Amino acid sequence: MSVSSSPNSIPLFKKILIANRGEIALRILCACKELGIKTVAVYSEADRHALHVRFADEAICIGPPRSTDSYLNIPAVMSAAEIANVDAIHPGYGFLSENASFAEVCESCHVKFIGPTPAAIRLMGGKDQAREAAQRAGLPILPGSNGVLADEEEAARVAAQVGYPVILKASAGGGGRGMRIVRSPEEIAVHFAAAQSEAASAFGNGALYLEKYIEQPRHIEFQVLADEHGNVMHLGERECSIQRRHQKLIEESPSPRLDPATRQKMGERVARAMKQVGYTNAGTIEFLMDAGGELYFIEMNTRLQVEHGVTELVTGVDLVKAQIRIAAGASLAQAIGFDPERLIFPRGHAIECRINAENPETFAPSAGHITAFHVPGGTGVRVDSAAYSEADIPPYYDSLVAKLMAHGQDREEALRRMQRALEMFIIEGIHTSIPLHRKILADPEFRAGEFTTRFMERFAKPAARRSNQRDNQQRRGA
Ligand code: ADP
Repeated sequence: MSVSSSPNSIPLFKKILIANRGEIALRILCACKELGIKTVAVYSEADRHALHVRFADEAICIGPPRSTDSYLNIPAVMSAAEIANVDAIHPGYGFLSENASFAEVCESCHVKFIGPTPAAIRLMGGKDQAREAAQRAGLPILPGSNGVLADEEEAARVAAQVGYPVILKASAGGGGRGMRIVRSPEEIAVHFAAAQSEAASAFGNGALYLEKYIEQPRHIEFQVLADEHGNVMHLGERECSIQRRHQKLIEESPSPRLDPATRQKMGERVARAMKQVGYTNAGTIEFLMDAGGELYFIEMNTRLQVEHGVTELVTGVDLVKAQIRIAAGASLAQAIGFDPERLIFPRGHAIECRINAENPETFAPSAGHITAFHVPGGTGVRVDSAAYSEADIPPYYDSLVAKLMAHGQDREEALRRMQRALEMFIIEGIHTSIPLHRKILADPEFRAGEFTTRFMERFAKPAARRSNQRDNQQRRGA
């Protein structure tokens, strides 16, 4: 075997600190264990009984439960890195994963940040800047403002040029927050003020930009991997149109709507664009597809995505191991274990349901104590979760309890597998989104692949009411 494609020929890190919690901390732990790398977990006081603490080689408490005091506390994380003498940090998703200053601090402490460079995070992480950078790099964007809007007058001017409806978005936005749809000139002032204050309180930055609002889009995103030697590859797309409150609920790969020619054309365009911006490590480029099938860039996530698992299932590539190897200096071929030209996409079909601990009426996170927990198994089923029987779901963090994935030879088999896996997933003691997922999976339009990001609007309310009844039965152990 030639040295260039052998993953075993790269000297890897000896010890990695995982700056995260929950299922993603465990996911990274798995990759490290398989690569023979020692792990250091960090945890807040609320997480002392968490599985990532239990399975890591070392664990260091970094502060009180609130994330600002622990998982977002850069001095505390860096002190742990120094005490444990690690040579790299994996940030996972959320928390510090898209914080350019944190990546810089790592660099200055000679600890490798497993992700892109601080400059790339800065360029592609700010949403208005990323829009411009994407356009310069040859990706199609929606008509909208050139960067941040100075005030509501400018917003009104740009909206008139672009044509209503438009969407106001926070430059520092994320998690579906800080967005406002504006349908007429009369609405712009009130929405501008509301979006600005929401963005200021959620992100500490009230800057807004504006783009054309697409009425019935599909959300389709491309996964890329780039090494530190100028090579970039794409690993196909994920369809993430099943959302509520602009947050993803179900993801699948491939998209039921994208034809192979468009996939190839857009995938290559995305890879060229990432090469042009000098991007490295794993990243996701998000697009909206309009009713005519045109794709428009909306944002980039400069990190591992929650939904990376569906891509792993249909490509056979371990994205977390690839991230670690790339950060250690591997070529793309070494990172994925074969020549990128030989990637077969897709190998069957994969789907993921995000199982959240949430109130089925309001979708508000529902913390509590899990009294029974049984994960489904069998052919083609993968569960990424840090939950267990008698575990507490603390109220301080996001509500994701498990990612349930199903892989089949085709979409129909993946869907049937998902349905039976949802039936076989037992979580008692807390409310979860399992009943809602079962409802979605049974919906004829969902099964036909005919849906947009608005799918849940007509569906969520009655489903939430009915799922509430079932959920209550589930809580009672019925
Ligand atoms: P965030 O960073 O908060 O996740 P995104 O820009 O990725 O925000 O958008 C999240 C979701 O909001 C999209 O998947 C889509 O459903 C909706 N959205 C965003 N921009 C538009 C737009 N221009 N037109 C229609 N829907 C949009």
